[in-house]
Amino acid sequence: MNIIFLIFITFSTFYHIPLSGLQDRFSYLGLLVFLQFTIFGFLYFLSLNRLIFYLFFPILFLIGSISSFFVYTQDIVINEGVVRATLETKSDVVSDLISLPFIVYLVVLFVFIFFILKKYQSLENNFLKSPITIFATLSLIIFVVVSYKKPSIFSNRLPYNVYYGIKEYYKKPDLEFLKINNSVISKSDTLQVVFVIGESLRSDHLPMNGYYRNTMPHLSTRKNVFSLKKVYTNKTYTAISIPQILTNQSITDSVGHKFYSLIDVLNSAKINTYWIGNQTPEISYLPFIKFSKFRKLIDPYHSEFSFHKKLDDHMLKPFYKYFSKQEKQFITLHMMGSHWYYENRYSENFRKFKPTIHSKYVKANSNQEMINSYDNTILFLDYFLENIIRNIEKQNTNTLLIYLSDHGEALGENGNWLHAQESESIKNPAAIIWFSEKFYQNNKEKALKIASIENKKMTTDFLYHTVLGLFDVKGVAIDPKENIFEK
Ligand SMILES: [Zn+2]
Repeated sequence: MNIIFLIFITFSTFYHIPLSGLQDRFSYLGLLVFLQFTIFGFLYFLSLNRLIFYLFFPILFLIGSISSFFVYTQDIVINEGVVRATLETKSDVVSDLISLPFIVYLVVLFVFIFFILKKYQSLENNFLKSPITIFATLSLIIFVVVSYKKPSIFSNRLPYNVYYGIKEYYKKPDLEFLKINNSVISKSDTLQVVFVIGESLRSDHLPMNGYYRNTMPHLSTRKNVFSLKKVYTNKTYTAISIPQILTNQSITDSVGHKFYSLIDVLNSAKINTYWIGNQTPEISYLPFIKFSKFRKLIDPYHSEFSFHKKLDDHMLKPFYKYFSKQEKQFITLHMMGSHWYYENRYSENFRKFKPTIHSKYVKANSNQEMINSYDNTILFLDYFLENIIRNIEKQNTNTLLIYLSDHGEALGENGNWLHAQESESIKNPAAIIWFSEKFYQNNKEKALKIASIENKKMTTDFLYHTVLGLFDVKGVAIDPKENIFEK
């Protein structure tokens, strides 16, 4: 039963992972065996009662194996977004289900379920006397301890992520939003603010900030581009940083308070809000997507853990479609950016810094390979932003572009890698401003100020107040000290 479970379900999460060398193969093999060991404990105790086993084993096995079908074939990661799509029966998911290979697979599953139940029926009922009981108990104790200390071992992998996804789906977001007073208005001229939310880009890897490599060949030589070098955040991962950036929550405020959502305020002020995203929405920032007037998620079922994730430049097409000089717009583009696994974030022609990483096991790559791959993701970002800017320029509009990464990334300092931990480079995300020639002509005084604050210390609080300040929104409190054009 364990072998069948391992093949049909547990192994699927490991199937697409790129590995090289013995060390990482062994570490992932160890993890796989460990996962299956904890599953063995659950299966064993489930099998102690005949009625419960007959009832629940087929259901659990079917849910796990159906999920793994999509993990094996499409590298979809089972998470809250997939659970939502399934429970809220999105038509595209349903139509994806009905394919010939899937039907064949279902038939095979039923054969195996029949085989297991048949075998189970022939077993004698003396389980509790078996020494296996001790191992099974041990397995459950280990599961409880590890899932408490390091839940990510289970929460990202089948079959456990089905449970975690469902749990997340029913969880309420930490942040609550205040209702907007009806009398909010915007007094600005027609203006488009394009807000690009970057991912894991640290400030000191930009040539504008003194980095020795030219990771931004386009933007570093462009007119009207400014890099805010000293933006600070204490929110070191996406799920908590985006709600902070897109509300009037200050980085010094604790959660549990109620805040104004920037999207809600702009909607009330009759500014058209758009969300184009390449990340699977997490419950903490789902409200910003839901309440944007127009939404386009380009690849909602492949999370950052998938090796078949679409590249960010797939967001360009919907952007070209939405961008319009006729209206006041706030367009958010939410990138996968420089999120680990770096090789999945850019196309072949941006592999300029070599050699690059070859294993998902961080320690199997050299420090330089890690940094090379990371820097290549910035080249791709440069190309992405350049395309957005060129498209805007063609239309001669009054437009401001703000790029702000949700947090930075550790690249080997004190042996730390990636993010969601305490490290200075994680707390200093990259921030770039560009404005159109028309914007410059309309706001000469303001625009000139930007150059003088490039080296000024500030926090990610600036986004909310700057955007509302530019749209000249009346009816909600705006802190002019946080507006970068007023500083
Ligand atoms: Zn992030």
